[in-house]
Amino acid sequence: MSATPHQALRSSSTALVIGGGLGGLSAAIHLRLAGAHVLLLEANERVGGRAGLLRFDGYRFDTGPSLLNYPWVFENLFGAAGKRMRDYVDLIPVDPSIRFQWPDGASFTLSARLDLLIEECSRLEPGSAPAVMAFLRDTRLKYDLAFAKLVSRNADSLWEWVRPLTLRECARISVWRSLHAELGRFFRNRRIREALGSYGMYLGGSPFELPGFFSILAYGELAYGLWLPRGGIFGLIEGVERLARELGVDIRVNARVRGIRVENARVQGIELESGEILDAPVVISNVDLPATNLRLLPQAYADRAARRTQRTSMTCGAITFYWGLRRALPNMPHHSIFLPDDYRGAFDALFRTRRPSDDPAFYTSIASATDAALAPPGAATMFVLVPVPLLEAAHTEQWDSIVQDMRRHILKRLARHGIAIGREDIVHEIVWTPPEWERRFGLHRGSAFGAAHTLLQNGPLRSSNWSRDIHGLYYAGASTTPGTGLPMVALSGKLAAERALS
Ligand SMILES: Cc1cc2nc3c(=O)[nH]c(=O)nc-3n(C[C@H](O)[C@H](O)[C@H](O)COP(=O)(O)OP(=O)(O)OC[C@H]3O[C@@H](n4cnc5c(N)ncnc54)[C@H](O)[C@@H]3O)c2cc1C
Repeated sequence: MSATPHQALRSSSTALVIGGGLGGLSAAIHLRLAGAHVLLLEANERVGGRAGLLRFDGYRFDTGPSLLNYPWVFENLFGAAGKRMRDYVDLIPVDPSIRFQWPDGASFTLSARLDLLIEECSRLEPGSAPAVMAFLRDTRLKYDLAFAKLVSRNADSLWEWVRPLTLRECARISVWRSLHAELGRFFRNRRIREALGSYGMYLGGSPFELPGFFSILAYGELAYGLWLPRGGIFGLIEGVERLARELGVDIRVNARVRGIRVENARVQGIELESGEILDAPVVISNVDLPATNLRLLPQAYADRAARRTQRTSMTCGAITFYWGLRRALPNMPHHSIFLPDDYRGAFDALFRTRRPSDDPAFYTSIASATDAALAPPGAATMFVLVPVPLLEAAHTEQWDSIVQDMRRHILKRLARHGIAIGREDIVHEIVWTPPEWERRFGLHRGSAFGAAHTLLQNGPLRSSNWSRDIHGLYYAGASTTPGTGLPMVALSGKLAAERALS
């Protein structure tokens, strides 16, 4: 058993990356920039993983992520290679960014423009302009601290992690309060708190359970805006893939890895489903971390990992609808979140009783409202995401009936807001449930966002990006550090590469 991750990779040796999600692509780029020969093996027909592409009848959909924030993280990824992101990816601003809607017709619209933000908050909570400014000051401080001192570097112990923080900074990061309680420090209005708290869903978590520190999620979007790459989120993946190939990363698709080969607690390489054997002293797995350990490691290591995995708390699953609509929906903005009357009850159903809620929150994205080329002329793409419990909450046939219930609920709720979509408006529908997400991308228990971001699963308390059992094995992606979401997994690839090279 090795105690440190050091010196697994010399700059001229070969490294294998399993999985071409954004974390895997980022790891491959950083390894290649350090001089390694990099071969990336992706099971599916294209890279991107959860940030994949669906195309039918002239409609183009992103499979998972639809919100792109913290663009500077991606600029840094291209910048590391001496390139400019704008030569690869065309980012279109989306502002106002998100509209929140409640069943009684109330709404709240967020914008990265300060005057509009203050106006909107003041409409719901008169006199709240100073609270908005205080919130932005507080979250800015946390956000800057997070990226300057916490999430952008590797650390193996709590002490090493927080060492760069002053005592005053430690006190300000609000890890002891829930996100919901943290928002209550600034806003009295329940709708503002519910709207900003529902950013917890970006991490697949409940605002009643996530640490208050995650108030930075809203700040990141307000300060740096929300964006859509031209061509959809997959436009970003295409740009990053192009960069990787230009740098000389060898990418093989339709190449499913069957297992990681290990001898004397050292990585030897991998074996593909085809039976092909590849040798390398370093493997970075971008396959969801618990799934890597349970399915790709030799039995003795997998058994050991199984005990740890049982203790890992995962984020929720998702049912995703991809609707090719016959007509545009001029009254609907690009992004909306539909919140229920019983906000707390919906989160409790998801994370405590673990059953699909009768009145779930859901999220819609009409990317063609920003990039018309994503749908045929006059038509629209509509993506709907409903957070649901993990795949073991229901059998396959039960998922079918849950989908029917959710579709009915969504259409009814939209109609209530004056957005009437008849079945005849939906030219083509594709639906993915947690079992489908698991099957396509190997997501542990069908969890859409990976390991949860509870207090005890952050920083060095989160599953580490290097194996303590197997020398030369590293992890990149949503279930390891720093966490889930496109910017975070891009960083995770960099951090995993640094481990392999350190
Ligand atoms: C529905 C949904 C909505 C989301 N919305 C957003 C959003 O709006 N904004 C945002 O920032 N984030 C969002 N996320 C989160 C974001 O998509 C993920 O955090 C991120 O894409 C995960 O990237 P990853 O690097 O962990 O790899 P993954 O995307 O999980 O990729 C892993 C890759 O490994 C491959 N693989 C698996 N097994 C094997 C094998 N045996 N051999 C070879 N290859 C294999 C898979 O095919 C896949 O390509 C969303 C996620 C989901 C599911």
